[in-house]
Amino acid sequence: MFREPIFRDRVAIITGGGTGLGRAFALRFSDLGARLALASRDAGHLEPTCAEIRARGGEALAVETDVRIPEQVENMVRRTVEHFGRLDILINNAAGNFLCKAEKLSYNGWRAVVDIVLNGTFYCSRAALEPMKSRQYGRILNILASYADGASPGTVHSCAAKAGVLAMTRTLAVEWARYNIRVNAVAPGSFPTEGASSRLWLTPDAEVRALRGIPAARFGRHEELADLAAFLCSDYADYINGESVTIDGGAKWNHPVFDWENL
Ligand code: NAP
Repeated sequence: MFREPIFRDRVAIITGGGTGLGRAFALRFSDLGARLALASRDAGHLEPTCAEIRARGGEALAVETDVRIPEQVENMVRRTVEHFGRLDILINNAAGNFLCKAEKLSYNGWRAVVDIVLNGTFYCSRAALEPMKSRQYGRILNILASYADGASPGTVHSCAAKAGVLAMTRTLAVEWARYNIRVNAVAPGSFPTEGASSRLWLTPDAEVRALRGIPAARFGRHEELADLAAFLCSDYADYINGESVTIDGGAKWNHPVFDWENL
């Protein structure tokens, strides 16, 4: 989408940046000139993506971080600023999810997902505030899911946590606009990744069922989502704040009352 290096001199942290969609954001932002800190619990997930970025001529630092632990999150931000001298962009992408009916969901299962998605997003945003505020520049992008402002039977923990992040997106956008920090979100539909398939698409017909609900009749491509993220974090989107953009091929609206296809 962009040809010029719109993120030249910018430094970005991407949580969960070693795998799946986080890796797609990392590669795209690096190609557009950003220097990156990738953060998640397992260095084995981060190092291959960092190596890939370096092989393409980019700069990437792996910082082992559990976003549920505030001290580790503060360390992530501190190490990024020590290494690169600044922090401009934060993508809150780390998440956990699994299928379970609410009536069978344990308290621990609920807490695990809410801790990563809702608490982790706040800890990372809060820790990123100081370096962003001190330079009067910041872009925070939260990765939601298309059900964040709806419902998701089978993943009430994720749905409730993402809805909380949506409310956080809007609220921080208002509070931190005075520091030239913009806070936006993207809400993806189905973008096949190893993580999503292994945790959420458990039956042989899961993929076919998911496809059936998508008016575009295909899954999303990682580069489509990465381009949207790049736009929202770029200075081209400077007047967009507190927004969430759904990217799901129209699936969110596909709940017809009538059998319209057979009219
Ligand atoms: P994924 O590859 O499993 O990504 C999840 C990432 O989060 C992993 O890199 C994982 O790394 C990291 N993570 C998990 N717990 C963490 C913790 N406590 N601290 C730090 N990092 C942690 O799945 P994905 O499909 O790419 O999902 C990426 C984002 O897109 C998520 O926010 C997800 O909710 C959202 N999303 C995806 C889809 C889709 O269709 N794929 C649809 C809607 C929304 P470690 O294991 O190394 O910690």
